[in-house]
Amino acid sequence: MSTPSFNMPLETPPPLVALRDIRQHFGQRAPRGWLGRGLDRLLPPAPPRITRAVDGVSLSVQPGEVVGVVGESGCGKSTLGRIAAGLLRPTAGEVQVLGQSLEGLNPAERLAARLRVQMVFQDPNASLNPRLRVSRIVGEAPRHHGLSDAAGLDDYVCAQLQRAGLDPSLRHRYPHQFSGGQRQRIGIARALAVQPAMLVCDEAVAALDVSIQAQILNLFMDLRDQLGLAYLFISHDLGVIHHLCDRVVVMYLGRVVETASAEELFARPAHPYTQALLAEIPDIAQRRTRFTALAGEIPSPLAPPPGCHFHPRCPQATERCRTEAPTLRGIAVRHEVACHLHDTV
Ligand code: SF4
Repeated sequence: MSTPSFNMPLETPPPLVALRDIRQHFGQRAPRGWLGRGLDRLLPPAPPRITRAVDGVSLSVQPGEVVGVVGESGCGKSTLGRIAAGLLRPTAGEVQVLGQSLEGLNPAERLAARLRVQMVFQDPNASLNPRLRVSRIVGEAPRHHGLSDAAGLDDYVCAQLQRAGLDPSLRHRYPHQFSGGQRQRIGIARALAVQPAMLVCDEAVAALDVSIQAQILNLFMDLRDQLGLAYLFISHDLGVIHHLCDRVVVMYLGRVVETASAEELFARPAHPYTQALLAEIPDIAQRRTRFTALAGEIPSPLAPPPGCHFHPRCPQATERCRTEAPTLRGIAVRHEVACHLHDTV
């Protein structure tokens, strides 16, 4: 029997999900008045304006890891989540599940890979069909994908509801007969029913009361312990992200501006945008009064500022920031930042 050499490279398992240089562009025609519409009949139409919702983002999630994505509304984090969950095909870039590119898989393999990643939405009202009983909402996908036969489906549905903290005896009710927190649990049971390895949670507790938020967050962490689930947790709430996540990705206008472990990011935020976001959390602001609160509106992704997208709002912007886009570079172990202030680190 051969003995492994100490010089042999250790094989690292592939990430559960890896996004490589993802771009998502949406075309949008400018609104036209009656004169413009008349001219359209005579002249070729103007090219659509491009919204760069996601502009060259790479990130990966390891099995059992909780990765948080934060940023203001319109930064592209929800679009990125939908791409990770396979609900949206990116304009460019590659999505890998367990080291395999989705584009290289046949339809059956691609479906199996997509079932590994499920999404939990912000608004359980909008994401549950009001005409279906809970038993059907939770049981439809596992029945369709052969994860349960017809005879065992009722027991299977009850098990998923129990996992999500719902009384299975309520399974014959309709969504409107439940509270907001219970409806979110139905959404979680539906996601669990196809035996995923990762949940993409897009502002999954933002619409709930604070006490219910805590219960749902605890449920997510219990499910991680019981099932080894990984999470891509999308939120504008840095308090929630700090509480839950192993690693944090900060996005601004379609780009990643900083990424680090949660501990490192909250202790030593390096990007002026991250510092400004942290300054808006009251308990953290008390400890870090040197940060300047974030001023101004996020610019339109239809016409992002040149150079560093953050320069119109950045208190430390220089002339270089207005013309040259910074790239992500490492400033500490597993801590990367895209800012010219850190070019010499
Ligand atoms: Fe501010 Fe310049 Fe850094 Fe952008 S690159 S965050 S504008 S200092």
